[in-house]
Amino acid sequence: AIDFKWIRDNKEAVAINIKNRNLNANLDLVLELYDKMLNLQKEVERLRSERNTVANKMKGKLEPSERQKLIEAGKNLKEELATLEEDLINLRDEVQLEAQCIPNMTHPDVPVGGEDNSKLRNMVGNRREFDFPVKDHVQIGKELDLFDFDAAAEVSGSKFYYLKNEAVMLEMALVNWTLTEVMKRGFTPLTTPEIVRSSVVEKCGFQPRGENTQYVAFSHCFRTEAGAAGTATRGLYRVHQFSKVEMFVLCRPEDSDNYHEELIKIEDLFSSLGVHYKTIDMATGDLGAPAYRKFDVEAWMPGLERYGEISSASNCTDYQSRRLGIRYRPSELPTTNSKKGKASSAATKFVHTLNATACAVPRMLVCLLENFQQEDGSVIIPNPLRPFVGGIERISAK
Ligand code: AMP
Repeated sequence: AIDFKWIRDNKEAVAINIKNRNLNANLDLVLELYDKMLNLQKEVERLRSERNTVANKMKGKLEPSERQKLIEAGKNLKEELATLEEDLINLRDEVQLEAQCIPNMTHPDVPVGGEDNSKLRNMVGNRREFDFPVKDHVQIGKELDLFDFDAAAEVSGSKFYYLKNEAVMLEMALVNWTLTEVMKRGFTPLTTPEIVRSSVVEKCGFQPRGENTQYVAFSHCFRTEAGAAGTATRGLYRVHQFSKVEMFVLCRPEDSDNYHEELIKIEDLFSSLGVHYKTIDMATGDLGAPAYRKFDVEAWMPGLERYGEISSASNCTDYQSRRLGIRYRPSELPTTNSKKGKASSAATKFVHTLNATACAVPRMLVCLLENFQQEDGSVIIPNPLRPFVGGIERISAK
């Protein structure tokens, strides 16, 4: 249920928004198709009512010639309607498809522009000072026998990896610890199928109950990462498959800004590991289509010598719920109403949806191995994770 009328009434703001977000949506075409669809809809309705009139007349007493004329007219109307109804279905699909490129509107505080215009929200901790030569996670993993990129490349392709030894333990530990922590914050844990209907992915705007519902799901992500050449692709940083714990919230529209702030508090988990990071209010050009506002967490990765995104929290407002048809019924609706059923269903509203990364495993591995490497080649495991790796305090050479 994309609100085309709203888009038409706010055409200028929508066009500016598309431009700010640097997306290719053809607003004029959407509105042209929408008008065409409305006109066709009217024509179909007119023909249907004409067909009903003919059918009603046929019920009465008629001269045979008169009846024949009506039969003829009815037949013609039926044929014409069948054609136009099919056109209408096709046109509806076309409008929906074209409208999918129109992004969500943007929170007024979001900075306009590209990456350089993103706004720093906060910075936690400091870059660790090293008094020995710093290695990157690929080198560390090689010396400590934690990965096998060669075997994975042979079996699955480039940008895949095998984790080995303590890296496997660390993956499980990160997932388990993160789930434990977010469950304390009231999230309901889920594991989900890894295969999703493409119609659902499309409606989520990725080209992807109760009152306020919070879920956290552990799942595998699969990314083509086409066009990512030239970016930091070494080792585990950008891979085709990875494990992630993701938080989801479905809430009332008036609560979504607060939930967004609530979700970005996941940064406390990163600071409890002793990671140095910053959080960023992403500029319009980096929002993609579904997000109304997006906060990213970027952690310092000493081996890669740069900050790398480890988490992303988006408020998608009603962008996904409109397309997926996820509604709720406000409890403040009057209960004593003679037309109760009708009134309450008419007054349903679309929920707001939010999502945020609680833990994207490979990026966390990069971060932990590079930040907690020691001069003797070992890596110290941060305190919170130790109970989840059987009490191991340090990864040493075998
Ligand atoms: P996204 O679901 O695209 O917002 O990504 C969530 C998080 O997953 C990001 O903040 C990254 O930490 C991580 N991530 C995204 N893409 C990749 C990738 N190709 N390889 C490894 N980690 C990734």
